[in-house]
Amino acid sequence: MSITLYNTLTRRKDALAPLDPSNVRMYVCGPTVYDYAHIGNARPVIVFDVLFRLLRHAYGADHVTYARNITDVDDKINARAAAERVSIRDLTERTAAQFHADIAALGVLEPTVEPRATEHIPEMVQLCEILVKKGHAYVGDGHVLFDVSSMADYGQLANRSLEEMEAGARVDVAPYKKGPMDFVLWKPSKENEPSWPSPCGIAVPGRPGWHLECSAMSEKHLGKVFDIHGGGIDLVFPHHENEVAQSRCAHGTPVMAQVWMHNGFLQVEGEKMSKSLGNFITINELLATSKFGGQPWHGRVVRFAMLGTHYRSPIDWTVERLAQARATLAELAETLHGVTPAGTPHADVIAALEDDLNTPSAISIIHGLAKSARRGNAETAGELKAALQFMGLYDNETPDTFFVGAEAPKVAPAEIQRLIKARLDARKARDFKEADRIRDDLAGKGIQLKDAKHPTTGEIVTTWEVRR
Ligand code: AMP
Ligand code: ZN
Repeated sequence: MSITLYNTLTRRKDALAPLDPSNVRMYVCGPTVYDYAHIGNARPVIVFDVLFRLLRHAYGADHVTYARNITDVDDKINARAAAERVSIRDLTERTAAQFHADIAALGVLEPTVEPRATEHIPEMVQLCEILVKKGHAYVGDGHVLFDVSSMADYGQLANRSLEEMEAGARVDVAPYKKGPMDFVLWKPSKENEPSWPSPCGIAVPGRPGWHLECSAMSEKHLGKVFDIHGGGIDLVFPHHENEVAQSRCAHGTPVMAQVWMHNGFLQVEGEKMSKSLGNFITINELLATSKFGGQPWHGRVVRFAMLGTHYRSPIDWTVERLAQARATLAELAETLHGVTPAGTPHADVIAALEDDLNTPSAISIIHGLAKSARRGNAETAGELKAALQFMGLYDNETPDTFFVGAEAPKVAPAEIQRLIKARLDARKARDFKEADRIRDDLAGKGIQLKDAKHPTTGEIVTTWEVRR
């Protein structure tokens, strides 16, 4: 067994070699809790949950530590609490609880630890002190700032030189900064903002910068150097670059994490998700309202739809994708109902995941296994069921479970599959009358067939959807 992962730091796929196989350590940047999490936020949560499951499978469930933080100190939180006239605590508690409820529906395991920024202030203060003492940070006008010129390879993760970055920096640089790219480790708080006693002899109370929070929390729970650090691609710069700068300079280490992993971005129906475009959709809206596609969607359908695209590629979130995922899950549920799962997931599915979390490949293997299971191969059925459970995609649901708020098909999914095959066979035999008859017959029962060319093989793939 060997897991290979694409590493943003080395820009290639490397075999994972944990520092300590008896404790494989992973940190993933979690949500800033001021509002409902959107479906873009669900992507890293699901992707790194798959990796967590794979690591537990490879090294043993008790030999993996997964830390996913909660950012509960942030200017956006302060602004929202003031606007809503609620206390910061109320806002962050309420939002964190909502986040947990939303992602539980997506079949996500709880991380080993979920550190909160507010519970790690002493560690952040200490990091400031160390960085100033070592000449990597300085105090200016109540702030502690990181001096990027003090680090020879600043920009290594983002693959940009300091000169390039400085050339692109805005001209209105704060007067207390020595260099335009220097960033805040600690800043003074105004009267109604959360504050703690400041480090480095600063008289006014203050609060940590976002980047510092993750350096402090990861060190506390995973150590000065750990195995994997993850998050969305938008975090590479400046957030992760600055985490690296802080942690490496404070600890004198060659790396902060061995492997840096970043998921691609999610867009909605071909456009960047934004409130102004009206295509902004929260996990909660997707699961519990009719806002997207006129009906709520089952959490496992959302998860399946998300994993249909490789985590590093951009993903286009569409109603079509969800409908397709639902049809597939309903078919699988029908095939596997009453089947006893095998002790281990099918090896081919695991092998696909070990190859840089190749979930689309795992899913196409699942389709092949389902075919074989439908032909009566009991061993395959058991291993397929175990594989789906392993990926958090299916437990013991019945086909209609997945049709939340929408009607389940009147024809059993496996029967639909049989008819789809009969129609394709009829077309191959140039019996178009029979092919059309099958299509119209299903349409009369509210099941619409759709033909598409497979992007790589070019063969016709027929999918179905319930329509009224
Ligand atoms: P934030 O609360 O904005 O810091 O985001 C939390 C996590 O969601 C980070 O790992 C982000 O990179 C990730 N994220 C935010 N928006 C998207 C998106 N549209 N697609 C994929 N990941 C995203
Ligand atoms: Zn972070």
